[in-house]
Amino acid sequence: MQVTQVVQAFESLGNSSRERTGMSCFVPEQLRRFTKETLRARPVRPFDVQEVLRRIHLCEGMTVLAVDIGGDKITAADFSVLHGRVELSNHVLTVQGDNGVGYLAALREVADSAQRRGIPVGISFAGPISGTRLNAAPNMPFFAKELQAGYGGDFANLFWKLELANDAEAGIMAATLEAARRYPDSSGVIYLINGSGLGGAVLTDATIYAAEPGHIEVAAQFNDFDGFAQRKQCGLDGATYVCIEAVAASKAGVEDIWHQLTGKRLTGRQISLRFLDGDELARSVYLNSARITAHAIRGMGAAFGLFQKGGQPVVIGHGGIFEVPGYGALVGEILGRDLAAAARILFTKDFSGNTCLEGAAIAVMAGYA
Ligand SMILES: [Zn+2]
Repeated sequence: MQVTQVVQAFESLGNSSRERTGMSCFVPEQLRRFTKETLRARPVRPFDVQEVLRRIHLCEGMTVLAVDIGGDKITAADFSVLHGRVELSNHVLTVQGDNGVGYLAALREVADSAQRRGIPVGISFAGPISGTRLNAAPNMPFFAKELQAGYGGDFANLFWKLELANDAEAGIMAATLEAARRYPDSSGVIYLINGSGLGGAVLTDATIYAAEPGHIEVAAQFNDFDGFAQRKQCGLDGATYVCIEAVAASKAGVEDIWHQLTGKRLTGRQISLRFLDGDELARSVYLNSARITAHAIRGMGAAFGLFQKGGQPVVIGHGGIFEVPGYGALVGEILGRDLAAAARILFTKDFSGNTCLEGAAIAVMAGYA
């Protein structure tokens, strides 16, 4: 990809959003739909960043084993504390598996290695959990079945010393340490995931909150593609409205709308290449997505009072859509128009090879094991 192409693509996204919306890009009708209730926000873990940093320093030289259990692969690596930072020190394994095939065998190998070496394990899991148990695994049914049959669905029956975190929780832990390094005075952290779906988490008052920003009802003006509208119902807790995920997420939104409008199934990466080639439909779908993503960030921040009294939370974007040239910068620009200073926005792709894996290691280091 040519550098000039990327710059032009970014400028065309930025310009057209200015043309259409004037200075402020926020639509009150969409913004006020974000409340702690509609976000289904719930506290999941204490996380006092100064205390965690202190503990990490005390762990200098210590090694833990971190595991990332994702929808398409499982990865394990050793992490050690070096000069006060939690760093990957040894890759252990990566197993690709459709529906979680092969995951349990890989986990047994990891468990043996950890036990042999007497080191604790942190796991990031892409699905709902409670304590050390897996609640559901829609992306990896085969693994869920195997873990249930062999270990009663409880990771604690497989590992001698274990810390389990949901992937958004693990991600925000790693992101928060980076945020604290760059902006020590921030009013909190908003972690926004846009990939296969649209999710997130918030850190405020030394507590991590899980949230479901993707399942907020979309405002009509963000669901209009030259007369075509997404009709896919949300379905979460029986909701029949169209949620922002079905319009703005890389896979559930952009790829799905592209398929409905063109009859062709393309990956997000292929659609983003069309966008770079000047395709008008690709541009309008990404532009709409970026505006909704900005609303989700602003809406989560507002629900938690993070923008009040000049407060500046750090926003962290995670997920495949932020690989689209100009997308993250545009989200930052939209956010910045309503703030006194430029938005504090970071992208995990710029500072972490695998944010969930890192977060799993931090969870153990933080001493919650
Ligand atoms: Zn939904």
